[in-house]
Amino acid sequence: MISGTVIIATEICKGCELCIASCPQESLGLSTSINRKGYRYATLLRNNCTGCVNCALVCPDSAITVYREIKSTKRQSQSAQPTVATQTA
Ligand code: SF4
Ligand code: SF4
Repeated sequence: MISGTVIIATEICKGCELCIASCPQESLGLSTSINRKGYRYATLLRNNCTGCVNCALVCPDSAITVYREIKSTKRQSQSAQPTVATQTA
């Protein structure tokens, strides 16, 4: 089983919402706060990210890094290996 999470560089984000539209899990939304440039920035709203990387691929400013973790099941080893998936420019 794979779960994911994202780290968003909020000071780079310009609030274009492309990542929000691309997320099949509807995990992302805009913050109620603004960054130093005056933009509402993207933020993770739900803890249901699958690590699909769609958001990072569409971000024009490379503001998103996706982390994936493969969780072990009863049939697998107990030591889960974290996998880092980042956007390529
Ligand atoms: S990695 Fe996929 S599921 Fe996770 S926030 Fe980005 S688009 Fe949504
Ligand atoms: S696609 Fe990038 S710049 Fe646009 S809202 Fe998402 S994180 Fe911000």
